[in-house]
Amino acid sequence: MSGINRRTFLKLAGTAGAVGLFACTSKPVRDAKAKVVVIGGGYGGSTAAKYLKLFDPTLDVTLIEKMKNYYSCAGSNEVISGWHDLDWLLRSRDGLRAKFGVNLVKAKAVEIDPQKRFVILKDGSEIPYDRLVLSPGVDMRFDAIEGYDLKTSKFIPHAWKAGKQTTLLLNQLKAMRNGGVVIITAPASPYRCPPGPYERASLIANYLKQSKPRSKVIIIDAKTQFSKQDLFLKGWQDLYPGMIEWVSSASEGQIDHINPDKRLVVTEFSAHRADVLNVIPPQKAGWLARKTELADQSRWCPVEPHSFESTLIPNIHVIGDACAATPMPKSAFSANSQAKICAAAIIDLLNGRQPGPPSLINHCYSFLAPDYAISINGVYEYSGTERQLVATGGGVTPMDADRGLEAKFANSWRDNIAADSFDG
Ligand SMILES: Cc1cc2nc3c(=O)[nH]c(=O)nc-3n(C[C@H](O)[C@H](O)[C@H](O)COP(=O)(O)OP(=O)(O)OC[C@H]3O[C@@H](n4cnc5c(N)ncnc54)[C@H](O)[C@@H]3O)c2cc1C
Repeated sequence: MSGINRRTFLKLAGTAGAVGLFACTSKPVRDAKAKVVVIGGGYGGSTAAKYLKLFDPTLDVTLIEKMKNYYSCAGSNEVISGWHDLDWLLRSRDGLRAKFGVNLVKAKAVEIDPQKRFVILKDGSEIPYDRLVLSPGVDMRFDAIEGYDLKTSKFIPHAWKAGKQTTLLLNQLKAMRNGGVVIITAPASPYRCPPGPYERASLIANYLKQSKPRSKVIIIDAKTQFSKQDLFLKGWQDLYPGMIEWVSSASEGQIDHINPDKRLVVTEFSAHRADVLNVIPPQKAGWLARKTELADQSRWCPVEPHSFESTLIPNIHVIGDACAATPMPKSAFSANSQAKICAAAIIDLLNGRQPGPPSLINHCYSFLAPDYAISINGVYEYSGTERQLVATGGGVTPMDADRGLEAKFANSWRDNIAADSFDG
């Protein structure tokens, strides 16, 4: 156990009386109107807040979110390829209050006091909780690649958080000459949206094929294999022959450093110069989770899979990209699925019941062209012997499947997850 030490953990567990599997021995902590606070109004947090109210309308649920506008990362590669405007990514949380009775607080949560159980906002005000759900997403690890830091990201985009970064990459692609080279660097796992870099390469190629056909996309990968690899490789051959090159770490080694001024990526064995450079750095759990010592040495937050309650600090549940829920990928679908399990478990715990074993799903679509998509899915259940989630089913689009139909499914999935997670 790292971060918080074992003695502190046991003390906190003692005062609170429940960490997931211990819950059967704890007393109900339910008062007339139990307070659940959710921090982070993205896919995970918004879904959790909504489903807590749906499952038990008597709960007092507060959602704290620091940003006025939420731009969905899911769909952002389509904006980069010029299919939609940035505003198409906006998701509204208004319905969470109007339709479901969630209290919305627009503020940055700057501290959590797990002992006294309250959240401190930037203006100093305190919000008490019986149970806290944290879904803060990811932060980029700006110390991981020499030559790439926060300052550099202002002109060498990562575009791994949607909004200004998406527009920066889009504008650089628009300004690039015909015959230019776009380099995308892809990180080692785990990171947000495993197939995302390869979908991005496909959709940039889709734009270049129409607007700057002599151009090329190179992916410099920290991995030796990637999600939906055979399907992507087949799609690139069919749609963009010779335009996309995937460079595996097996042949290049890892990135040694980046020279941002020259837009140069230097690996262990060679150097590549880009006209447009998109560095996707390794990632870690969002700042507040790390500050509260909810993350361990992996930089992600270990959780108990029945309830997504932290194994380090009781009464705090971590969902979405920030939690370590291996083998689930970090995706909007996973965050939504985890949020529902977490909401149901919190209601059990508040009523002195032990949450049952969970079953979760993930289904990730990737576009290669407007009428060409592929997908991967997985079912995850709790294994008592391994005391963690294991994949019990799943698969990918069959090689001979209709990619146009997959594209239709992908479009309706996007609408459905937006409605289910936000205000539908
Ligand atoms: C290019 C790209 C494409 C993607 N495509 C897909 C896809 O097709 N399908 C899919 O399933 N997933 C996709 N994803 C992944 C998906 O976007 C994430 O997995 C998902 O957003 C995770 O949800 P979350 O709630 O963990 O984090 P987020 O959605 O990032 O939400 C975190 C929220 O917490 C807020 N916050 C953080 N700290 C604080 C604080 N201290 N106080 C108040 N608020 C705070 C943030 O402002 C933010 O709104 C994609 C990602 C990328 C980058």
